Amino acid sequence: MSDIVILGVFVADTAYRADRQPRMGETILGRSFALGPGGKGSNQAVAAARAGGRVTFLSKLGRDTFGDMAMDTWAAAGVVPAVERGETPTGAAYIFIEEGSGDNAIIIAPGAAAEIDAAFIDQHAGLIGSARVFVTQLEQPMQAALRALTVARKGRAITVLNPAPAAELPDGMLALCDYVTPNETEAEALTGLAVTDLDTARRAGRALLAQGVRRAAILTLGAQGALFHSADRSIHVPAFDAGPVVETTGAGDAFNGGFAAAVAEGMDPEEATRFGCATAAISVTRPGTAPSMPDRAEVLALLG
Ligand code: ADP
Repeated sequence: MSDIVILGVFVADTAYRADRQPRMGETILGRSFALGPGGKGSNQAVAAARAGGRVTFLSKLGRDTFGDMAMDTWAAAGVVPAVERGETPTGAAYIFIEEGSGDNAIIIAPGAAAEIDAAFIDQHAGLIGSARVFVTQLEQPMQAALRALTVARKGRAITVLNPAPAAELPDGMLALCDYVTPNETEAEALTGLAVTDLDTARRAGRALLAQGVRRAAILTLGAQGALFHSADRSIHVPAFDAGPVVETTGAGDAFNGGFAAAVAEGMDPEEATRFGCATAAISVTRPGTAPSMPDRAEVLALLG
């Protein structure tokens, strides 16, 4: 049995570095190419497993090379897959990185994962309902996330929604969530309040509780760390310094994976927020997303 069930998307990240984007109809030579495992849900599953959680990842893949890459990634991290593999190709992301500025432009094609629907969730209701902690994001269809949160709540799962990428939610969805973990942009999409500092983060935290979040809103604030906001407490957890920052992509995924692992082992949620921040702080000192996730011993060492 797994303590943590994560519903989400795997995509193969294909990253191209070039001096600029090609114009329509044009072909240019790039500087480099890199291929790696991606998808928020999959990254979070890897982070949670490396942080010590017993994790099952629920998704759909194609019967193809990128699907094999997903299975290898999870096997290496100790994530148990609960996946259906069919004829639709595994998802992929085109990531253009501008040489010099490092700015990026991304196209995500979720592929097989776009076919995750309520019926698929119902087929796996037993697994979801028996989880201690259930986590999802918004890369697979919204209706599937909504259904899965409903099933998880009917069981005894503690539910965590990482509302990424930013989107409007159906009415009542936040009332199914024990914890919601937006970054600044996502918090603004949910509340209409611009989050720029701790004060505005607190205001957004209050708004999220008013929208029905059950236990706490945990806003991640990049290099400012995170704000844990519940009905009776509002606590700022400063970011940890784990060394020079190399790449912050996947910081949110590291946070969510670490947080889920900590909650599953019974840590109180504020302590779990610190654990998530420590997990993320180590991940940003390393290149890549899934490969940058720290193991449990490293997180505990940083927490001191
Ligand atoms: P996202 O990747 O979703 O935008 P954030 O940028 O808010 O998420 O980062 C998630 C968490 O990662 C933060 O709460 C923080 O704990 C940690 N983090 C992000 N950037 C840094 C940094 N430069 N140094 C240390 N920790 C960081």
